[in-house]
Amino acid sequence: MGFWKKIFGGGSDAEQPEEVKAPPVEAKEEQVETPAVEAEAPAVESAPAVEAKEAPVATEESAPVADAAPAAPAPAAASVEAVDTNGSILVVAECSGGGLNPGTLSAVSVARKLAETDGTAFHVVAIGSGLGDAGAELTGYGAATVQVVDNADYANYLAAPYAAVVSQVARELGTSFVIGVASTFGKDLLPRVAVRLGAGMISEAIAVCDKENGKHVFRRPMWAGNVLADVQATTDVTVLSVRGTDFDKAAKTDGSASETVTVAGVQTPGDAQQFVNFAKTESERPELTEASIVVAGGRGLKDGENFFSIMEPLADSMEAAIGASRAAVDAGFCPNDFQVGQTGKVVAPDLYVAVAISGAIQHLAGMKNSKTIVAINKDEEAPIFQIADYGLVADAFKASPEFVEKVKAARS
Ligand code: FAD
Repeated sequence: MGFWKKIFGGGSDAEQPEEVKAPPVEAKEEQVETPAVEAEAPAVESAPAVEAKEAPVATEESAPVADAAPAAPAPAAASVEAVDTNGSILVVAECSGGGLNPGTLSAVSVARKLAETDGTAFHVVAIGSGLGDAGAELTGYGAATVQVVDNADYANYLAAPYAAVVSQVARELGTSFVIGVASTFGKDLLPRVAVRLGAGMISEAIAVCDKENGKHVFRRPMWAGNVLADVQATTDVTVLSVRGTDFDKAAKTDGSASETVTVAGVQTPGDAQQFVNFAKTESERPELTEASIVVAGGRGLKDGENFFSIMEPLADSMEAAIGASRAAVDAGFCPNDFQVGQTGKVVAPDLYVAVAISGAIQHLAGMKNSKTIVAINKDEEAPIFQIADYGLVADAFKASPEFVEKVKAARS
């Protein structure tokens, strides 16, 4: 027999678990209380001290050199030359697959904020082939220019040529910041740009803090969100990836339109990487990272057939995207692009419904900023209930179909 349990709001202080959604702001390094600290996530006491300032180029994130050091002759642009910076900012737009990824507008809002603080300009670069009116689409957000690199060579995303283009445009503009979204595209591309520019890389920023010593400071989660570190790069150029879910998307400004500049391509070695195939997942459902409602299933659903027979009607009833825990993905219930969490996608929808997911810290790292969290789990001790706004202790196989019927009735 299940019951609804409202965990936040209305209960006594004693009943309320530690809030994990709102990070404290005053400290340099904060431990966030989370319900299930697993062996993999180091306890803060025993962990090495977090440096307030990240080393600029020596981190793993900032120096993936797989494509930057090919056996083939290295492209000229791969060598690191000092950039003659002027304080301006470059946003890398994500236009793969034809349309503009709306996450780009989160990066634009960060760029606009930095530009306003510094009294400088920001630019946007869009790379691809057949971009059509991408330049026009990106104009009007306050960028001084939209640099459009529209060339058949860039029809398919490849890290090496795209990184060469972005770093060349950044170099020519003299930008001090290169900013993109910490999407799959941004995580692949931006560290390579950092290597080419000799820039410090700050990954997955969730907030812009006050400047210190004349340099911008950014907040980013570490160790699966157990720790929030405020960091700054000490290099002249900073490459920054931002979590799209933590920043509002920029709205058009009343100011003048941006100038669209057509940029020629960059000579990159054709044999360092070759495009073979892009197996895009086709789905009628909203994109997981952009959806306003996400329903996610876990290992408790037991197999792939159950996973889809439970999760699809639930998603259909609310026009939701479907996500999953890593355990469900690893067990082969569903494709790995469903995975939410530390090593999956980070989502922050208005509503997140976790079905038969225990709430391991690595899963929470990808969804705990959801505005409302609902959990269905047959174990009332499951850690997911500690962050859920509403919890249903029940067998998902019985409760989920009933849930769907209730939703349908409420919406009809
Ligand atoms: P389980 O922990 O097995 O939980 C299943 C839950 O289902 C239980 O709470 C159970 O009570 C419930 N249940 C069972 N049957 C029913 C039923 N009939 N009705 C209702 N409830 C039921 N995990 C991620 O999710 N994302 C990540 O990105 C991720 N990255 C990781 C990175 C690293 C380095 C490591 C070490 C781990 C990572 N993990 C990640 C794995 C994570 O630690 C957990 O193992 C995983 O999240 C557990 O998934 P689960 O909750 O589906 O499975």
